[in-house]
Amino acid sequence: MKSFFTPHQEKLLNKLNIQNWFDLLLHLPVRYEDRTKITDIQDLKDNAFSQVLGKVIDVDIVFRGKRNLVVHLEDGCGDQISLRYLHFYPNQKAQFKVGKYVLAAGNVRKNLITTEIIHPETAVFNAQEVVLPENLTPIYSVTSGLGQKNIYRLINKALEFASSQKLLNFEILNHKSKTDGVNLLDSLYAIHQPNKNCDLQELNYFSTIFHQHIKYAELLSQQLYLKLSKDEFKNQKSKIFTLKNNNLKDSILNSLPFKLTESQEQVIHEIESDMSSGKVMHRLLQGDVGSGKTIVAIIVSTLILNNEYQVAFMAPTEILANQHFKKIKELFQSTDVRVELLTGSIKGRKRNEIIDDIESGKIHYVIGTHALFQDNIYFKKLGLCIIDEQHRFGVKQRLDLMSKGKKDGHQPHLLMMSATPIPRTLSMSYFADLEVSTLSELPKDRVPIVTKLVRDSRRKELMQMLKNELNNDNQIYWVCPLVEESEKLTLSDAVNTYEEFISFIPKEMVGIIHGRMKDQEKDEVMSKYLQKKIKLLVATTVIEVGVDVPNASFMVIEHAERMGLSQLHQLRGRVGRGAKKSTCILIFKENLSELAKQRLKIIYENQDGFLIAENDLKIRGPGEMIGTRQSGVPGLRIANLVEDADLVKEVSDYSGNAIKSNKPAAHRFVEFWFQDKNYLRI
Ligand code: ADP
Ligand code: MG
Repeated sequence: MKSFFTPHQEKLLNKLNIQNWFDLLLHLPVRYEDRTKITDIQDLKDNAFSQVLGKVIDVDIVFRGKRNLVVHLEDGCGDQISLRYLHFYPNQKAQFKVGKYVLAAGNVRKNLITTEIIHPETAVFNAQEVVLPENLTPIYSVTSGLGQKNIYRLINKALEFASSQKLLNFEILNHKSKTDGVNLLDSLYAIHQPNKNCDLQELNYFSTIFHQHIKYAELLSQQLYLKLSKDEFKNQKSKIFTLKNNNLKDSILNSLPFKLTESQEQVIHEIESDMSSGKVMHRLLQGDVGSGKTIVAIIVSTLILNNEYQVAFMAPTEILANQHFKKIKELFQSTDVRVELLTGSIKGRKRNEIIDDIESGKIHYVIGTHALFQDNIYFKKLGLCIIDEQHRFGVKQRLDLMSKGKKDGHQPHLLMMSATPIPRTLSMSYFADLEVSTLSELPKDRVPIVTKLVRDSRRKELMQMLKNELNNDNQIYWVCPLVEESEKLTLSDAVNTYEEFISFIPKEMVGIIHGRMKDQEKDEVMSKYLQKKIKLLVATTVIEVGVDVPNASFMVIEHAERMGLSQLHQLRGRVGRGAKKSTCILIFKENLSELAKQRLKIIYENQDGFLIAENDLKIRGPGEMIGTRQSGVPGLRIANLVEDADLVKEVSDYSGNAIKSNKPAAHRFVEFWFQDKNYLRI
């Protein structure tokens, strides 16, 4: 990576989760636009992406609540279109001079009176001649400072590098190439620079043979990784943790305000037996949203702590790490277990102190984010790694954490927790290396969540109605959707909504939380919300994972039609966590497709995550896209366990044979895919 990107680029790419040139190649376009042709204004269709070319005949500023910039264009046939900017900069206005030619691309809004594009992408020319691209235009998810053009350029560079160095030939993939006739390099070229004759819909749905090939390769890399590491772990010994005299466990149990469910007790028993057996545990704890996985993890930790070993508890976000830290610290308050937090935002002296104390064993229980993986962190005696929401982490990350604990030939136990509603049969074949425990019931005090579907046109009315909810001591989440390619847009949605609310609700009662805030700010907002100082929280999907505010009993999710069902289920799971009756309102945009309707029906009718996933799978044919591609992905970027169930089976069957017939080739492929020569250093 060092020589491939500048340090500045590297920093920005890291924000997109890209660590090296190969990661960059796997950063696939989220959608495509056809800018190879120009449409006559008279032929434009409502709600279709199009590109027009016209001469500027007028530039206006009009008032529609705010100042809007409106540019009127006329094309060669004498038809007109308006380009509308809801916010704009002075120099943006200045570039549109009457008489210039503008090439504008975007989603067309057409009714009887007007034809317009809101916030189009434009290029301004002096004459009517323009050069159009030869390929379809890929649209990537970007971050500020690194826009579409830059990403595209870097990806081209990486493609040329891979091609000139012949880095992407793997015999292990020949098996697949025989049936689909493509290879990895061709596939990546075809996806990043698609020929204009490609089927736009297939591309947008990630269902071209090229996408299939890459999904296959990705699934294979993970499956091989799991199987190869299982071989490695199989006979590893662990210390025998004795179950005797665990006073710590009793004191924690006694301080809980509730009784464990039978299912929780059963699962705790399974985990304890594993950990006292002398063999290394690799166990997945599955349980639906709100089933009480955290407390299970805490209780089983006492076994390790009581045997004077350390526990590391890792969460995917700082919000969640903070939440766990506070809960755990409080529970162990009257014991001599020292609990600490280690996240990316803890810096300087404090950080060094914590790292030293982990190494010397003064800290017994450490909760953190992936900051726990860092190379300079060593545990004195790590007995157990807990990974919450494990589907958020790659296979490699979790194995990395385990490697930290290895001392004197002993390996720490691994407990992973997940609410990913992967149908059971699938998780069995996918998590080849794991034992699975399942929490099969929710705590008894839970009242089912009432789900309602509401049209977008009633949004304003709904906002007003919430004011009354607040009078009843309820706490509310208002969730704005993720706009995949642009954090900026998501943010502006959330900020606008926040501003709308504080125009009629006292400001101190309303909070906002989003991914761009500093971690400390996020933590402050969450604490205020938890302490009921904030009553209404406008949030982006940063709250999706694991957040636990039992008093929150009302949630509104905008643009529900854009989200994956597992994501909606996760979000909805932020309410209904206490004994209060909860409501979740899903706002959808009108003119839904048949599939979108069916999907919303599933979430409307079901509360069980596994049933939701299974029904979701049933109504969709292979390759049908579901809005955002971020549903239930266990460390996978491209393939999706639910959508690509057939591929998962194919890969799972093939991978065992592949290792048997040529283990070194399997190693080489995994090493390359993760760009890590030491991947099995455990
Ligand atoms: P998840 O499985 O989604 O991670 P949590 O562990 O966050 O769920 O638990 C959800 C809520 O349920 C928490 O507020 C927790 O304190 C509470 N809880 C856990 N177990 C029980 C129980 N047996 N009875 C009542 N409430 C419980
Ligand atoms: Mg949780």
